Amino acid sequence: SKAKLFDEKQKVKVSFKDVAGLVGAKEEVQEIVDFLKSPEKYTNLGGKIPKGALLVGPPGTGKTLLAKAVAGEAGVPFFSLSGSDFVEMFVGVGASRVRDLFKQAAQKSPSIIFIDEIDAIGRARGKNNMTGGNDERENTLNQLLTEMDGFGTDVNVIVIAATNRADVLDKALMRAGRFDRQIYVDLPDLNERSAIFNVHLKPLKLGNDVKIDFLAQQTPGFSGADIANLCNEAALMAARKGKESIENEDFLDSVDRIVGGLEKKNKIISVKE
Ligand code: ATP
Repeated sequence: SKAKLFDEKQKVKVSFKDVAGLVGAKEEVQEIVDFLKSPEKYTNLGGKIPKGALLVGPPGTGKTLLAKAVAGEAGVPFFSLSGSDFVEMFVGVGASRVRDLFKQAAQKSPSIIFIDEIDAIGRARGKNNMTGGNDERENTLNQLLTEMDGFGTDVNVIVIAATNRADVLDKALMRAGRFDRQIYVDLPDLNERSAIFNVHLKPLKLGNDVKIDFLAQQTPGFSGADIANLCNEAALMAARKGKESIENEDFLDSVDRIVGGLEKKNKIISVKE
């Protein structure tokens, strides 16, 4: 099978209402929606539209979802790729793949390019020499910088990247005119967890004893992805028991399973260290 370089969606159905919580982050990306929808409003006064924004935060907090929602709200095509796939799958051709991606996105301008796990490409250069250097990755990174610098004022492509390791990124990425805006996407607090449950419980058949605020209290430290996973686990557990609806105990049992899984993962990591 042919490896896919990037995913291209002409019509994105995700909108801001699918993204629960993240009020501050949504406010910040609203500006990107405006840039994509009415660039003249900004360029008429001589301003230059920013080319990149970096979403920074722990895994599963909705960075991909938020980037998609920007495309959905602006009604523009969404090109996405993951930095780790990129480095693993396209040995020797990373730079030319970046060129292709930007070319296609420019042809469909206005559009969004989303790069998940940008740290896989964008680690500081010259600091990876334990493995004998990594010219391939550096070439890919250099091409990315070249493409972002090369956008003319006639194209309106905004590059959104996501990472949970902003500390390891090459500072060149953050320079003016590149990813000069950083937007923090944090783990949800109690109220935000309620809002996320609200989204993910909606399609489910719930028993009368299920209370959103109680579930939010039982899930400190959960990301949005953990909550989505919990809701699905609870539904499967209730189905396995042949129930007609999902009850509070199904959620609590699933919380135990997920927390147990997280603890195991942490243990394995701490043994390695
Ligand atoms: P990673 O860093 O692991 O790529 P991410 O921050 O990009 O994670 P997403 O892929 O956007 O996280 O989140 C995974 C899923 O978790 C989403 O598709 C959604 O179902 C759920 N989710 C995460 N955050 C939220 C949120 N704020 N509101 C609603 N659903 C959320």
